[in-house]
Amino acid sequence: MQSRELSMGLRKRIALVAHDHRKADLLEWARFNRGLLAEHELYATGTTGLLLAQELDLPIRRLLSGPLGGDQQIGAKIAEGAIDFLIFFWDPLEPQPHDPDVKALLRIAVVWNIPVACNRATADFLISSPLMEEPYPRLVPDYDDYHARVLPEPVVAHRSPQHRGQVALTEP
Ligand code: PGA
Repeated sequence: MQSRELSMGLRKRIALVAHDHRKADLLEWARFNRGLLAEHELYATGTTGLLLAQELDLPIRRLLSGPLGGDQQIGAKIAEGAIDFLIFFWDPLEPQPHDPDVKALLRIAVVWNIPVACNRATADFLISSPLMEEPYPRLVPDYDDYHARVLPEPVVAHRSPQHRGQVALTEP
């Protein structure tokens, strides 16, 4: 697939998410890096955002709680180009009710080529990168070719007379 460049501004739009057993770790990391985080736009899932706002006294755009759809909201924003950085302290030792959403968020972050930190060491390296202090031309997939692809079997939609209002897909 072809790629195109999407410019990440000087002010990065950073999403922060932590599972319950990782929240203390994220809060400590965020406290230590408050000065750096203050220079960027912050987003977070519900509970993580509440705790971070109390801890940092910085504006944080809070989305829904992760298990209630917050992870999916962050994923959607990444796909729309509205979030370009993810700090996601997920819990490797506990199953989560929203495991499929967790996997989907990690997948979409890779699809859209955004920096992702899932533990403190990676978050330390990312936040102290010189690239944080300059615009960055991020390569993202260019879906023009994908949209123009030839489908294996053409399908047409028709309205069935017996089932008014329902649309059926059949081969021509
Ligand atoms: P929370 O969600 O910040 O609302 O706890 C995080 C998550 O579990 O994904």
